[in-house]
Amino acid sequence: MIIGNEQIADFNDPKKVVRSNTNLIVFPAKAILSKAEQTIVIKWNYPINIGSQIRTGAVDESSFFIAYSFPRIAVYDDINGWDTWSYKGTQEFYNDFGDFEVEINVPQNNVVWATGELQNAAENLSGVVLDKLKQAKSTHNNIHIIDSTDYRKNNVFAANPTGNWRFKALNVTDFAFALSDHYLWDASSVLVDSVTGRRSMVHTAYNKTHRDYFEVQEIANKSVELMSHVYPKVPFPYPQITIIDGTDQMEYPMMVNDNPTHSRKDAVQLTTHEIFHTYFPFYMGINETQYAWMDEGWATIGESVLSPIMGEPEDDGIYSRVRYERISGTDEDMPLIVNTKSYDGFAYVTNSYGKSALCYHILQDMLGDKLFFKALHQYMNDWNGKHPIPYDFFYSFNAAAGKNLNWFWKAWFFDWVYPDLAIKKVADIKGESVITIENKGGLPVPIYLTITLENGKEVQKYYSAEVWANNDKEFLVKDKFGSKITKVVLVDIYTPDKFRQNNQWVVELDK
Ligand SMILES: [Zn+2]
Repeated sequence: MIIGNEQIADFNDPKKVVRSNTNLIVFPAKAILSKAEQTIVIKWNYPINIGSQIRTGAVDESSFFIAYSFPRIAVYDDINGWDTWSYKGTQEFYNDFGDFEVEINVPQNNVVWATGELQNAAENLSGVVLDKLKQAKSTHNNIHIIDSTDYRKNNVFAANPTGNWRFKALNVTDFAFALSDHYLWDASSVLVDSVTGRRSMVHTAYNKTHRDYFEVQEIANKSVELMSHVYPKVPFPYPQITIIDGTDQMEYPMMVNDNPTHSRKDAVQLTTHEIFHTYFPFYMGINETQYAWMDEGWATIGESVLSPIMGEPEDDGIYSRVRYERISGTDEDMPLIVNTKSYDGFAYVTNSYGKSALCYHILQDMLGDKLFFKALHQYMNDWNGKHPIPYDFFYSFNAAAGKNLNWFWKAWFFDWVYPDLAIKKVADIKGESVITIENKGGLPVPIYLTITLENGKEVQKYYSAEVWANNDKEFLVKDKFGSKITKVVLVDIYTPDKFRQNNQWVVELDK
């Protein structure tokens, strides 16, 4: 290792180098001061794992997805100082932004896909492939860059390919790449910014035996379009993204490593989820190690919002709602603010994915679309690339929405509460019906009521979670229906509820 003019050769000298799990702590002779520039040269090697993939490794005999393959400088931030958390496979990552110029040398019969734009395509790829790539740049239709016959027909590579592939990526938090000597390659592009006319390229590279992958290109293209224009309604920030047929379900800047799936539904939900991570964590620079819900929660609600538009709704309304209901109120149901590093198992999965996704959904339900997107966009614009922490998210939303939502943050993020509404009482007072809804669990959730009347009519009533803003335990629904109530049901597939037995009142049972 060379730092400036200093050569560090003895890695056993504890005054110079300390090893701590996946951290290597180095003490250079001369301090590198804030805002100073320093060249650091590191020689290293990286054994490729086979058959033991945790998000990286050999996919088959001659296809590979390579991530976490280079030493990187830990983040130093103004909250925690150095981030020295070791990567052990469960918690995800916290990375800083950087520009990458990477050269990858592989045997000449391989195609390489990576984070960043390919700088020397003509050195390796045939004129036919280059023409098709050019075509894909201006159409959302799927162009088969390499189809199943092209390798056999020698259509893929330039006459004398160098096997040297150069990529450039600006302002990204990580770099990953993939290679194969037999993967098919689809590509197209999407208009991501209607104002500037900017388009992003979408690529898919896959094994021809994985039939679900025949549709992934179209799904990925649609996902990027919907993210740019529907949810979160922010132009896709990268010039391209590539979905690689791999062994895992994992996101990287401009790259996705997705296993093949058994159904279109799974392919849609998985593809859109992993691409959604472009915004959280990457665009924002989230510390996923400590606040997984600031990342996965958004990818989960993104998946739940966008998949139905592609014809594949989630079974439980929102992914993981049922799982959250199962553990809510138990000692594994920890307040969201608890540091992700402090737990794993069900607690990890629930908080990171389902519970936080439900929270974001209920927040949108309460604010309404206009105010919700105003707040979301202000948060994303103000904190893009700046490593926001939970309080930055809370305060951004308070400021943009022009509302003090602290009661909502407190209940959803800090309190030991759970979702359980109950219909406590239905009464008739001087011709006016009064329905008493009790918030037994304490979590602010909306009220969706279906009221059946004696005259056969059905009335729907809706109140947002805001009805719990004053910490009341009960909420009264009062109305003159002109007919007696025979049945009241609390119903909504998007609203979690631990005990559904108390969500219904029927007149006969009350006699
Ligand atoms: Zn995810």
